[in-house]
Amino acid sequence: MTVNLLDYDAAGLTAWFAEQGEKPFRAKQVLRWMHRSGVADFDAMTDLAKSLRDKLKALAAVLPPAVVSDRLSDDGTRKFLIDVGNANAVETVFIPEDERGTLCISTQAGCALDCAFCSTGKQGFNRNLTVAEIIGQLWLANKALGAVHGDERVISNVVLMGMGEPLANYDNTVTALHLMLDDNAYGLSRRRVTVSTSGLVPVIDRLRDDCPVALAVSLHAPNDALRDQLVPINQKYPLASLMGACQRYLTKAPRDFITFEYTMLAGVNDSDAQARELLALVRDVPCKFNLIPFNPFPDSPFRRSPAERVRRFGEILLQGGIVTTTRKTRGDDIDAACGQLAGQVQDKTRRRVEKTIPIMESRA
Ligand code: SAH
Ligand code: SF4
Repeated sequence: MTVNLLDYDAAGLTAWFAEQGEKPFRAKQVLRWMHRSGVADFDAMTDLAKSLRDKLKALAAVLPPAVVSDRLSDDGTRKFLIDVGNANAVETVFIPEDERGTLCISTQAGCALDCAFCSTGKQGFNRNLTVAEIIGQLWLANKALGAVHGDERVISNVVLMGMGEPLANYDNTVTALHLMLDDNAYGLSRRRVTVSTSGLVPVIDRLRDDCPVALAVSLHAPNDALRDQLVPINQKYPLASLMGACQRYLTKAPRDFITFEYTMLAGVNDSDAQARELLALVRDVPCKFNLIPFNPFPDSPFRRSPAERVRRFGEILLQGGIVTTTRKTRGDDIDAACGQLAGQVQDKTRRRVEKTIPIMESRA
């Protein structure tokens, strides 16, 4: 079977080269060709001996996933639909800003965690992406954005905030993170790579020990009663344990704060009292808040909080001493905004009954 060299980080590639009787520096050369120069064709790797190139051609390949579609929003946001086989596709979004360019990457086809307000979650889960499929999104976007040669950083930041829960696909995510950070690959600083999680507490601890990068935690509620409904994984890892994991993470994190993401749902989690409850909840966790106005998708029972409500909510957090930003909705004309990523997922979870959302019923 052909080995896909995009599945390996430096350690894995060196080990594979050793199995073929090749020296570590050859692995490093190939790593640089693949990731720094975006080269997939062994014959174009001109500083490798012809015999090695022939050997590689016989045993291996550089196989990124295929781009199914590539759409550009009016605001410059660009969304790639990436084929991950068997009628599944995931989305990758590039968000250009004045000072940086951020690539939002997916880690799973679908998501099993079923958060109430998330389009990906509503589709169910198909499978984990491979390392090649995760890092392949960066590989492909670099190429599409014309950024593969030299050191120009069109993509200066990567956020694992696309489809799926990165910490539920831990091993592949961490291997892909190694490549993002490796100077022989993408050379991004740990501060510029962010993992976003809905709060898998034991895995947050593993990430701290294995590969600490910037951490964003999807909070969305100030108490367990509400968070149990919005983010069902809270029933397993409630807020007190999540706050503890955040504190432990900060002992090794590259930044001295956790980013809390908070999707603003009208009449559900956006009151003044809830903002004050949040201040008490995060009292012992150095943090910043990122408020995300809810992005609607078909059949969603939620509404976006009005701009004035978001402003007031943020003001209370600010007055409580917490740096708070409101995420600008980008790319919504091409359904590329947070939580709208749908791709194409063949659901394998086969949820029998679509869950009703009790809080919405009680408000009806
Ligand atoms: N699974 C991870 C990362 C992907 S979701 C996580 O949950 O953190 C990225 C962010 O978008 C999360 O904070 C998520 O809660 C938020 N999000 C999901 N659906 C949304 C929607 N419809 N509108 C706004 N934000 C949403
Ligand atoms: Fe999964 Fe994150 Fe969506 Fe929740 S918000 S269903 S964890 S992708």
